[in-house]
Amino acid sequence: MATTAEATEITVTEEPKLKPVDYKSDLKPIWCPGCGDYATLSAIHQSLARLGVPTHMVAVISGIGCSSRIPGYCATYGFNTIHGRALPIATGVKMANPELTVIAAGGDGDGLSIGGGHFPHAGRRNVDMTYIMMDNNIYGLTKGQVSPTTPAGDTTKSSPYGLGDRPLDAIQLALAYNVSYVARGFSGNIKHLVEMIYGGLSHKGFSFIHVASPCPTYRGIDRFKEYKERVVYLDDDHDATNPLTAYQAALRDDGKVPLGVFFKQERPTLTDNCEAISRKALANGQPTIEGIMDQFIP
Ligand code: SF4
Repeated sequence: MATTAEATEITVTEEPKLKPVDYKSDLKPIWCPGCGDYATLSAIHQSLARLGVPTHMVAVISGIGCSSRIPGYCATYGFNTIHGRALPIATGVKMANPELTVIAAGGDGDGLSIGGGHFPHAGRRNVDMTYIMMDNNIYGLTKGQVSPTTPAGDTTKSSPYGLGDRPLDAIQLALAYNVSYVARGFSGNIKHLVEMIYGGLSHKGFSFIHVASPCPTYRGIDRFKEYKERVVYLDDDHDATNPLTAYQAALRDDGKVPLGVFFKQERPTLTDNCEAISRKALANGQPTIEGIMDQFIP
């Protein structure tokens, strides 16, 4: 016969630990063979598994472009939205349900051209989500036109005589926009990329991961090899708490592409700030319409 202690014992059933494959949807990616986006997708699945967040607590939001197909390949909530609008829509998702792990994903054209006006505001507001930009230096989905990060002088479908414009640098922009976690990975090193994305997902605030993600179809089959020769890793003693050091690490004049966490800062998020405003606003009781209207009547 069971003693009282035995009879009242509660059995704790542990949730099964999720594996990367559990975050993978049944849809088979239709990217070109050798596309850098495969590696980023795998790194996202691995990072989510490491985080251990249930699939129903994740939302992946994208704009338009080759890389913006990512929500379809994740067994989470997802929304493949309209061109350049991943960040405002992801911000709305996070504000509606702050418990969700929110990932915004897309390419350089989507994030720095069509949606370029949203990036600074997501950064300065410190929306608690992770933005992954797969930068292939081209518009791939529309078959190879110049993007905001195409290097000067390059010939493309829309610059047959060479491009005169200078490219934007996503890391320098993120630092200028007060993004609180700024990192870069390369699709040719998945292990390192997982570290960058996992770091961003674990960070409380707006995290930006810039991924050098070559497009062999429109940037040439040698692009991976070329990147492998150009990437360098930030020193172990790099001071990621100092914006000046971060900026210096991002600025290179030797053609190298630095990888790692450039900057990390803890500060209140948009959700924290909205809650604080709400508490202040309600401290003197529920505001009335008349009280609000009085402020606008001279
Ligand atoms: Fe990838 Fe380029 Fe093909 Fe698009 S066009 S799927 S970016 S290789």
